[in-house]
Amino acid sequence: MDRLWAPWRVKYIRNKKRKKCIFCCGAKSAQKNYVVFKNRYSFSMLNIFPYNNGHLMVSPKRHVKELALLKKVEVLDLFETLSVTKKLLDKVLKPDGYNIGINLGESSGAGIAGHLHIHIVCRWRGDTNFMPILANTKVISQSLAELYQQLKNARSGRN
Ligand SMILES: [Zn+2]
Repeated sequence: MDRLWAPWRVKYIRNKKRKKCIFCCGAKSAQKNYVVFKNRYSFSMLNIFPYNNGHLMVSPKRHVKELALLKKVEVLDLFETLSVTKKLLDKVLKPDGYNIGINLGESSGAGIAGHLHIHIVCRWRGDTNFMPILANTKVISQSLAELYQQLKNARSGRN
């Protein structure tokens, strides 16, 4: 089994002193939090500690931890946001595939278990290559700011 190796995430995982929910902040301040797309009840944003280039998260605006706590209209909105976000990634990064999933509860690996979110991780053939294994280093060839701008441009039809 190939594994994505992301040692830079340790900084994020060890940061236990986070006081504010990043998703609630993202819902309020789009530019500052790399929000790529906002829908009526949900939005998508870049993960600043990505597993891979093009790791985004889709979240409801409301701070809820369970799917069952979402109203039907919020579930539809969330999946529409997921679909729009994936289309933006298709257009801008053209990955070979995706891992799309939800971690529910801290024991599942959810970093922020209190606010439901869906991970979208772009995958390319060979993205689990020798660099992470031999050098304990992952090459991400694009900055977050550059990716953010490309996704925003794709959203507004400027590329
Ligand atoms: Zn929240």
